[in-house]
Amino acid sequence: MASYVRSGARAADIATLGGNAARAATGFAELGIGHGDVVAVYLRNDLAFFEASMAAGLVGAYSTPVNWHNSPDEAAYIFENSGAKAIVIHADLYHTIARAIPKGVPVFVVETPPEILSAYGISTEAAHAPAGIALWHDWLAKFPPRAQGPDEAPGSMIYTSGTTGHPKGVRRNPPTAEQTAAWTAIIGHVMGFKPKFGAPENTVTVITGPMYHSAPNAYGLYAFRYGASVILQPRFDPEELLATIERDKVTHLHMVPTMFVRLLKLPEDVKRKYDLSSLRFVVHAAAPCPVHVKQAMIEWWGPVIYEYYGGTETGAVVFCDSKEWLAHPGTVGKAIDGAEVLVIGENGDELAKGATGEIVCRSHLIPDFTYHGDDEKRRRAEKRGLITLGDVGYLDQDGFLYLCDRQKDMVISGGVNIYPAEIEAELHKMPGVADCAVFGIPDEEFGEQLCAVVQRQPGADLGEAEVRAFLRERIAGYKVPKRVEFRTELPREDSGKIFKRKLREPYWEAAG
Ligand code: ATP
Repeated sequence: MASYVRSGARAADIATLGGNAARAATGFAELGIGHGDVVAVYLRNDLAFFEASMAAGLVGAYSTPVNWHNSPDEAAYIFENSGAKAIVIHADLYHTIARAIPKGVPVFVVETPPEILSAYGISTEAAHAPAGIALWHDWLAKFPPRAQGPDEAPGSMIYTSGTTGHPKGVRRNPPTAEQTAAWTAIIGHVMGFKPKFGAPENTVTVITGPMYHSAPNAYGLYAFRYGASVILQPRFDPEELLATIERDKVTHLHMVPTMFVRLLKLPEDVKRKYDLSSLRFVVHAAAPCPVHVKQAMIEWWGPVIYEYYGGTETGAVVFCDSKEWLAHPGTVGKAIDGAEVLVIGENGDELAKGATGEIVCRSHLIPDFTYHGDDEKRRRAEKRGLITLGDVGYLDQDGFLYLCDRQKDMVISGGVNIYPAEIEAELHKMPGVADCAVFGIPDEEFGEQLCAVVQRQPGADLGEAEVRAFLRERIAGYKVPKRVEFRTELPREDSGKIFKRKLREPYWEAAG
């Protein structure tokens, strides 16, 4: 069977999607969209995501996926900031952010598939395309395919998650032919798209992470280019994923640690019910994975778990397989070919192995980037010729990298550095805890003190005293949060990153 992209009941083979993209590219070119312009892709994971992204690439424009969880103001910021020349958007999403769309920018509405509407509990009325705005598939059908080779993209322009501030538009310079080849090889290595893990026609992957985020975006588009079959799921549901793996003989997955946590919390009989032996390459990244979680996943799924570390700016720079991780538990991996990773101190000097400092890294094989419209920020991101992603960590004697936390999340209490990620990893082990976040809040005496926000598992009735007692047995007293609060849900992105900024801000605003 030819490779396909499938979303719910709808499926298309790769040639059909490529043909639609080539027609849309002709349409974009007729609108004057060309080299270096931006096409905003405001879509949930959907077949049209591939068409719109490829069409932009075929006219040399940047395809800019936008986080569709955005409020109208956040969306307006990205449309403005990127200077989008066209917007491709799902019909129901159009209705939620219509006022954010700049005047005069052509809008192409993609009919929102019923299964996506029902997954999000949205009514069909909300999804009707507004009059006067082109329907994506009707519009592209009017054009002949653009007579050009595949993907003439100058690169991507993806916004970072905005977990620490305003999202930053990362604009990659046009790659040379060598860089394109090197990049494809890097992706093949860290995402498993190479014959060693299955010929393209035997490679099947499921994408449950949002394709507006740089990692699932690169993952999805490269899987497609590799010729793999791609199954898109609108939302992560742990049991549905297991059933899909068995039914479709899924070989490859791209995961984030919260998905592992939710899979591990399934009842034992459900975990054992499905045949997962088709899995060959399961890679995770984007957020810290507690050691006990990864250990349990390797025990369950076998040594098919891989990890990489990097950011929108750098791509993947560090990588490890299960065997390397088991020999160095807690590591995020070792520099890949062509990448350099250093840990530096406050004065910018390289630190000795084992010492904790700021991580700077770069892959010398992929094209350089700029922060769209902010050259000064680009200069500040560069340290010793490498790029800082704002993470703190250390390298061991064998060159394996360990992350302590995000620099902005580090708490300084009474002059002592505390890494909330360490406390969160312990809290995740506590029965009854579904999710948690630890961050710094103002304190008159110590400057900052720790606050833990906990989401209980349904039916669990743990209280503040139990949480503190649990931690006191496991970590030093000064790391036990002074304040413990409970919430029904924490603001987590689908990529697994937690919006600590949103949790922290009210405390700091209240303190003036
Ligand atoms: P913003 O800069 O807008 O706040 P962001 O820093 O989250 O967004 P991304 O490029 O989306 O930007 O994510 C990169 C970050 O993801 C890294 O700096 C790191 O903190 C985290 N990360 C990536 N891989 C891993 C990993 N394997 N383990 C832990 N954290 C990871």
